[in-house]
Amino acid sequence: MGLSTDLFIGGEWVKGPSVMPVMDPALGEVIAEVSIAGPAEIEAATAAAHAALPAWAATAPRQRAEILRRAYELMVAEADFFAELIVRENGKVLADAKGEVMYAAEFFRWFSEEAVRIEGDFRPAPAGDKRILVTHQPIGVSLLITPWNFPAAMATRKIGPALAAGCTVILKPAGETPLTALAVADLLSRAGAPPGVVNVILPQPVGASISSMLHDPRIRNLSFTGSTEVGRILLREASDNIVRASMELGGNAPFLVLSDADIDAAVAGAMIAKMRNGGAACTAANRFFVAREVHQEFTTKFAAAMGSLRVGPGLDPSSQVGSLVSIPERDKVAELVAAALDEGATAVSGGASVAGAGAYFAPTVLGNVASDSSILKNEIFGPVAPIVVVESDEEAIFRANNTEYGLISYVYSADLGRALRTAEALESGMIAINRGVVSDPAAPFGGYKQSGLGREGGFDGIHEFLETKYIAFTL
Ligand code: ADP
Repeated sequence: MGLSTDLFIGGEWVKGPSVMPVMDPALGEVIAEVSIAGPAEIEAATAAAHAALPAWAATAPRQRAEILRRAYELMVAEADFFAELIVRENGKVLADAKGEVMYAAEFFRWFSEEAVRIEGDFRPAPAGDKRILVTHQPIGVSLLITPWNFPAAMATRKIGPALAAGCTVILKPAGETPLTALAVADLLSRAGAPPGVVNVILPQPVGASISSMLHDPRIRNLSFTGSTEVGRILLREASDNIVRASMELGGNAPFLVLSDADIDAAVAGAMIAKMRNGGAACTAANRFFVAREVHQEFTTKFAAAMGSLRVGPGLDPSSQVGSLVSIPERDKVAELVAAALDEGATAVSGGASVAGAGAYFAPTVLGNVASDSSILKNEIFGPVAPIVVVESDEEAIFRANNTEYGLISYVYSADLGRALRTAEALESGMIAINRGVVSDPAAPFGGYKQSGLGREGGFDGIHEFLETKYIAFTL
């Protein structure tokens, strides 16, 4: 497919001790074999990122910005190539993959603009005895670990700010979707990123390899996107050397439909909030809390919309829902749905896996879901929408907050004051009012509680890769 399947270390394509297969989950076939990294390749990548750091940190911000800007332009020009690659290894439909590529490219553009705006501060101390000078410096070599659901965007959302800040990086993509990461590294190299600034490795076994890297004093920063469970392990690992860590973890987002909501708009928003990326997003609406007054109309219309979606191979332009990333991921979704049905929920649409070799699950709306049902406690990561009926705004807010997660919440109401009061009461880092999507490279993305630490994108994103230095002096 015109792309190296080796590791990318120090500006070179490097073979590891063995290879691992990459599957097309829609076909159930191996499409490539990529090199894995053993201890020698991990050492080489760490040494390369460490050696490249001083010169990259000293590179003029404008020059770093221009490399990122070229990366943006190349990615837009090559959007079809990237989209097809994402579909092949992830299973999502082409429209979602194209949307992801544009979103991914925007992180390069946004952080090319941020690279030249790293602010500082100079002011007299209140006591008048000195001046306070505050400046920011790159933290150093950053380890970036990304999941399979947005193989391009999760990489660029970390690489963009890291390079803008003057850090060098080692990217560890998910084993399910390494090809897109390799293509992103190749693109950055063509955009002018010097050797060693961006490295990609696929270490095996993952846990022990990442642990050894987090105990290597050359690695100063960790940026992770993935499950809360793995995030917790990595925070423990990072604690020994006090490695700076930012974490984008699980979401389990609530979707509140208040009694005065425009139901057609709420259904349209729910279709996006639930079904973008086939439901495999940490922002995906997973717990629908719908006012009793409107729940019948909402459920009927939502189930009709979900039931009419065409499920099929991502590369077929008529498909609206692709396959999940793998059969094990599809089976996890099936188990959650089966348990909910056992507990008394009803499948108003869908309810089961689609037979055949591909990892497909039918778009599903579950009605009559009990407020303590197990499906509400686990992130679904698939095309399944459980609906719980609530009696008041207070109950909706209580149930929405009754979770260890706090990434994003969706609120539908015709009354802006009521929607804002609800938004203020919800314990989440992002709130969508009367819309089904919030993600924007120019806005801070991140969660409360066990959904994470730190923010990506917006003005905050670059600070995950910067240290703050205070210099005191007397005039
Ligand atoms: P998801 O549920 O999205 O697959 P995971 O947390 O399992 O989330 O995976 C996210 C990323 O973390 C992937 O790149 C995966 O390979 C990596 N990962 C999984 N387990 C570990 C671990 N013990 N240490 C470091 N990285 C891990």
